[in-house]
Amino acid sequence: MSNYDLIVVGGGTAGCAAAYMAGKLKLKTLLIEKSGVLGGSTTAGLVVPAMKSSESQINTEFMDVLIRKMKIMGGQVDYLGNPGWFNPELLKCALDDLMAEANVKVLYYTTVQGIQHTLDTITSVSVYSELLSPCTYSIDNSAFKDLSVSIGTRYLVDATGNADIFKNLNCEFLKNNEDETQPFSLRFIMSGIDLNAYSEWLLDIDKDKDVTTVQQIDGVLHLSTACTWDKTRKWALLPIFKAGVANGLLKPDDLNYFQVFTIPGMPNSIAFNCPRLVNCEGTIDIENISKSLQDGRSTIYRLAEFFKKYFPGFKKAYISQISDMLGIRTSRRIKGKYIYKIDDILNGTSFENPVAVANYPIDVHSKKKNGSTLKKVQEYQVPLESLMSEQYENLFAVGRCISADFMAQGAIRIQPTCFSMGVGLAKYLAKHRRHR
Ligand SMILES: Cc1cc2nc3c(=O)[nH]c(=O)nc-3n(C[C@H](O)[C@H](O)[C@H](O)COP(=O)(O)OP(=O)(O)OC[C@H]3O[C@@H](n4cnc5c(N)ncnc54)[C@H](O)[C@@H]3O)c2cc1C
Repeated sequence: MSNYDLIVVGGGTAGCAAAYMAGKLKLKTLLIEKSGVLGGSTTAGLVVPAMKSSESQINTEFMDVLIRKMKIMGGQVDYLGNPGWFNPELLKCALDDLMAEANVKVLYYTTVQGIQHTLDTITSVSVYSELLSPCTYSIDNSAFKDLSVSIGTRYLVDATGNADIFKNLNCEFLKNNEDETQPFSLRFIMSGIDLNAYSEWLLDIDKDKDVTTVQQIDGVLHLSTACTWDKTRKWALLPIFKAGVANGLLKPDDLNYFQVFTIPGMPNSIAFNCPRLVNCEGTIDIENISKSLQDGRSTIYRLAEFFKKYFPGFKKAYISQISDMLGIRTSRRIKGKYIYKIDDILNGTSFENPVAVANYPIDVHSKKKNGSTLKKVQEYQVPLESLMSEQYENLFAVGRCISADFMAQGAIRIQPTCFSMGVGLAKYLAKHRRHR
């Protein structure tokens, strides 16, 4: 049986950070990813940019290396003081390189089928790939006859976003109150846009630049703008969307959320942080996920047709990418050694072992008009104990599924905080390396 110091399940935002740092700190690390690409939400999910967080962030090694590498590759800009604007396609290549550089072994199209453990310790996991037939399955140069392969590990990290490993182990999850759910979104990219024409028009209709920003960086135009049905800001685009509804191109619910960002290294393209699927349940059962993907794609087509008619610069625009990864803001959250609470954020509670420091707002999306929360907060710390399993001494979670109450999760779920969690956890594991 192969043996690893650390197995990370889920090669997304937090999982890549954890695996990279662990590899750099000389832990023998295996990264298991169910899709064919690393990055999760940051690549397959088309979630750009990594939001700006606190200047006092800690455990930034992974974010720093991404910024450096992506800049060299032509897939990063520092826009309005935020260096986290990455190109999701180039990021896929960068992450492959970084894992190789850190000696992390990556298994794509693989999931965990079974987990072997004693009362309080994980001993090994059985991995499974639907792609391979029994005779051809091999890992670390050993061929296996069985479809599933057992791999020993000192530590197991659940970075699946939905806490699939904790679910597999029948662990307890934090419960949500009735209204505690955030709608899914399905992100997409349009290309062939005349950005000059679009930005001139945006600046003209949003004269006080309430929500629109435009900046030339190294001779390339970057922009962002937004519009929602909440009465929190002066949304310059709202009358245009309302005209789309009046003319039958859009449905009334299409007004619920619209947000766009340009993408470094993809001229004439824009990434859309929408549609937000307010007609779907927020639950992660497979029927609901399937319905949400169908609803998302039909809405994207409808929105794109509307943009082509109503947005200057969009005459020749086309949908160039639709994420095949549904944008899930929150789902299962583990019940860890410590439950991170909204009061910890509001009071700026200090912890002995923080893995992340941030000041990103409490950002909770709602299906209901005027129901969303975007509350600015002071700096807060995320404690290591919220990443620790209550039951198993060598099992951890990183990313959006850590032990945090619903409102606190709304703040800590952003990419830079997930990166820091991964790095902070890897440092802790390397320091407290357990010997069998
Ligand atoms: C619509 C939307 C918009 C957002 N906008 C922003 C934004 O603009 N900026 C920002 O900073 N943050 C944003 N966020 C938040 C942020 O992107 C996510 O919360 C964060 O990336 C989640 O990181 P993660 O590591 O927990 O999960 P992910 O990055 O989703 O990674 C999970 C990984 O695990 C893999 N996986 C899942 N199950 C298994 C399994 N059983 N076995 C093996 N592998 C598995 C997946 O394929 C994936 O690669 C947004 C989120 C959403 C949904």
